[in-house]
Amino acid sequence: MIQTLSQTEADHSGLPPSRVQCISPYVNPAHVLSPPRHWLEALLNGRYSWPFFRLRYKHLLRSRFKAEPERFFTLLAASEAGGALHLTCHCLTEHCHRELAREFLEHLRANRLAVGATRRTAKRPPPPRAHAPRQGMVLATLIEHPLHAHSRQP
Ligand SMILES: [Zn+2]
Repeated sequence: MIQTLSQTEADHSGLPPSRVQCISPYVNPAHVLSPPRHWLEALLNGRYSWPFFRLRYKHLLRSRFKAEPERFFTLLAASEAGGALHLTCHCLTEHCHRELAREFLEHLRANRLAVGATRRTAKRPPPPRAHAPRQGMVLATLIEHPLHAHSRQP
């Protein structure tokens, strides 16, 4: 599971550091979920609307996922082993990108499970072909035919 917290909430939560990842570009600019700082500043001063930021950020995550999928799968694995993974940041705006990051990862998790299910179905062996009873019928015909022919002789 993936949850989102403000950094202040996380600081007071008593969560172990291994369960918390800060995705603020000011604190952790190298994180795969951190947007560029100037995007957040544009959001704050009104140059970017939230829908526009949302669009750009999701596009950014998709292209990062294409380039380095294993970094995203590592986050998913961390969110499945030993409790929830908590994403935090210091956004001062009404909306925060951490909610979009959580949506993206959960979408990825659902898709990965769908891909896994398809693979399992494909690996299933084909059902056995039902030719045995037909062989039996052919044999019965061969055995019965001479007797039948004989009894018809005058
Ligand atoms: Zn944020």
